[in-house]
Amino acid sequence: MSQPEQPTVLVVEDEPAQREVLAYNLGAEGFTVARAENGEEALLLVDELAPDLIVLDWMLPSVSGIEVCRRLKSRQDTRGIPIIMLSARAEEVDRVRGLETGADDYVIKPYSLVELMARVRAQLRRTRAAAVGQRLEFEDIVLDPETHKVFRAEQTLKLGPTEFRLLSTFMEKPGRVWSREQLLDRVWGRDIYVDTRTVDVHIGRLRKALCQHGGDDPVRTVRGAGYALG
Ligand code: CA
Repeated sequence: MSQPEQPTVLVVEDEPAQREVLAYNLGAEGFTVARAENGEEALLLVDELAPDLIVLDWMLPSVSGIEVCRRLKSRQDTRGIPIIMLSARAEEVDRVRGLETGADDYVIKPYSLVELMARVRAQLRRTRAAAVGQRLEFEDIVLDPETHKVFRAEQTLKLGPTEFRLLSTFMEKPGRVWSREQLLDRVWGRDIYVDTRTVDVHIGRLRKALCQHGGDDPVRTVRGAGYALG
């Protein structure tokens, strides 16, 4: 096989200086970089280029970053593209979470480029791992990394992207106890500032999702230690 193609990263940012700094640094990391200065252009470029990852500013003229994210995550063909949302204030991040746009990660401005690059790499590692992954099974639960589908007792389960990654982490090693910090590392990526309470919130959602057609809650809370599947 020839060398793998460089991943394409789409940068969506209306501030020219910020857009160029991002594009320059992503290019220096070896990525193929595409730029969009507004939401409409971003949506067109996604269709045209099928990028491997999108760095998306929240504040954009006309179609906001949130709306771009929502549209892409509601489409079957684009929902698997990881989106890292850039936001000017921490309160916005809370709002983003509240709105459940499905963004895969959030970075608060002003951000460190080193940190942002680490998050980009973490997201790409995850999608690559999932792309070569095999079906995982635990009791009556089946997770298919290729189609991003989860079944329980042969019924399809609806899961958000974070819950999906949590479940794949659990299903790689059933019975293993994961601390909140380990889950943050695996699911949200290293060097990322996310409160450990966020883990609890998403575990709650995962439990609900796993039981949406009935069945027992397979996620075990291990007091003082964390969580395990089975
Ligand atoms: Ca902006």
